[in-house]
Amino acid sequence: MRDVSWLIVGGGIQGMTAAVHLCRQAGISAADIAVVDPHPEPLAVWKERTEKIRMPYLRSTFVHHLSPDPLELVKRGDSFLGRYKRPSRSMFYDTSKELLQETGIADSWLQDTVVHVEKSQPGWTVYGKKNTLTTANLLLAPGGGSRPVIPAALQPEAVHVYDPSFDPSAVTGRAVVVGGGISAAHTAIYLAEQRHTETVLLHRKPLRVSQFDSDPGWLGPKRMQAFSRMDHRRRRRCIHTERRTGTMTRELLFKLRKLERDGRLKMMQDEAAGSRRCEDGMVELELASGSLLSADSVTACTGFSKELPGSAWIQPLIDAYSLPCADCGYPKLSPSLMWTDRLYVTGALAELEIGPSARNIAGAQRAARRIAASVCM
Ligand SMILES: Cc1cc2nc3c(=O)[nH]c(=O)nc-3n(C[C@H](O)[C@H](O)[C@H](O)COP(=O)(O)OP(=O)(O)OC[C@H]3O[C@@H](n4cnc5c(N)ncnc54)[C@H](O)[C@@H]3O)c2cc1C
Repeated sequence: MRDVSWLIVGGGIQGMTAAVHLCRQAGISAADIAVVDPHPEPLAVWKERTEKIRMPYLRSTFVHHLSPDPLELVKRGDSFLGRYKRPSRSMFYDTSKELLQETGIADSWLQDTVVHVEKSQPGWTVYGKKNTLTTANLLLAPGGGSRPVIPAALQPEAVHVYDPSFDPSAVTGRAVVVGGGISAAHTAIYLAEQRHTETVLLHRKPLRVSQFDSDPGWLGPKRMQAFSRMDHRRRRRCIHTERRTGTMTRELLFKLRKLERDGRLKMMQDEAAGSRRCEDGMVELELASGSLLSADSVTACTGFSKELPGSAWIQPLIDAYSLPCADCGYPKLSPSLMWTDRLYVTGALAELEIGPSARNIAGAQRAARRIAASVCM
């Protein structure tokens, strides 16, 4: 059994941002930290998803990354876009990996899946499928998008864009992409630019533009102080209204419109009410307007389930130690994101404390800063 001072469950953006802050801000040695994740290397989910949709630039700005130093990306990279200096995906990924190497966090990696957690001396015992570890401090960062959702009307014919089996480069013929957010926009643009596909973007509501996933005001004290004064029910409602899911940046909308003008993409505002596979192998979508749309493939860019992340092993933990949760099932936390005795959470799990930006990179930095600051005290 291995013993560490800090154990982080989940090596995505959130977990790795926390790890870097623990090293750089709180002065904890990387040798005292272990990161447990089923993937072979850090940031694997982020890399796979952003590569899959061929996202060239991040939506967030140059100050949002894994490090406590706001200028970390500018010092390391030179590939930025526009007035917000949005980093290119490849530069962001390469420099993040470089930073993880330099801090030594890359060597803290333990490839495993956590299945059970219990209290013990000196803090917590964490059971993976292959390893058992004890730790004084436990940080849960299992992500917020592990279960992609496909609306019932598209099942079973559609495949989710983030289903590991979906390969956009294998799509041929008439492709229907369903959704109105950045994943749908990037996927439709990629497919439309492939000469061998005829692409339709089917969106339920008018396409909406937003530069960011939520108002940047949610990163500052004014809005966040008001948020902290709300009870947890109001916080959940606020997060629901303030997160700009299903929106895209202006440049993506312009690109879609250009492709439409060039006759390479068709955009339709309608909703699938049902779907069936025809004898000739085509999928026929029955639309709410009454018309029919046939396609060789249907790609659902329709988001993720809203359930508590990691519920299969976190719910038993909640039950065993009566951990405080709001009505929505998410953790009620201290300002330092501690749930109970040196058990911390970040990312989607910390949403009721960090607010509408919690799931993004900016939220990861704010969460990591709070955790590291509480350790320094
Ligand atoms: C295509 C795309 C583009 C995005 N672009 C931006 C952007 O530009 N700017 C921005 O701010 N945000 C962006 N986001 C949002 C957000 O930053 C990402 O979703 C981010 O990856 C979330 O990080 P995470 O660590 O919470 O989750 P994940 O990246 O999903 O990482 C969680 C990790 O935990 C592991 N895990 C889960 N359960 C266990 C377990 N039981 N045991 C061990 N490990 C476990 C998972 O395998 C995974 O590796 C984007 C999201 C997507 C999908």
